[in-house]
Amino acid sequence: MSSADHLDDDCIFCKIIRVEIPSFKVFEDGKTFAFMDINPIASGHSLVIPKFHSANLYETPDEWVAVTATAIRRLAWAVEKTLEPAGVSIVQANGPGAKQSVHHLHMHVIPRGIDDDLMMSWELVPGDTDAIGELVERIKANLD
Ligand code: AMP
Ligand code: ZN
Repeated sequence: MSSADHLDDDCIFCKIIRVEIPSFKVFEDGKTFAFMDINPIASGHSLVIPKFHSANLYETPDEWVAVTATAIRRLAWAVEKTLEPAGVSIVQANGPGAKQSVHHLHMHVIPRGIDDDLMMSWELVPGDTDAIGELVERIKANLD
């Protein structure tokens, strides 16, 4: 079964996978897609999604969780090499208490600074698309 069989017509992340809406893509393979968050909480904030529509971690088959975890490691390492942050947090939200806003499983790569005081919940504030577009090329150059 191809990944297209697992996508949802109305989901914004499925539309990104199908390139029906644009994204700052970092990489994709047969089962995953990595791209920059357009409301970055930190420079380099980026996302990995499986090419399988499911609302959250609990509804995602193990195989798809596994490929997403492998892809998040690849993305995080490229972000690490590009920005050399003091740390990187991997965040994954499930449900309203976790402020989940897109109901397609996704994992965040969030570069961290010492004492940056980032919160687990944050408001969505559009980023500078020129800066994101420049940064995605630098991260792509550091993919293993
Ligand atoms: P969450 O709160 O974990 O559901 O996070 C969803 C993330 O998706 C937020 O950080 C949004 O900024 C991000 N997001 C939503 N739409 C887009 C988009 N079209 N391109 C890139 N990131 C997006
Ligand atoms: Zn979806």
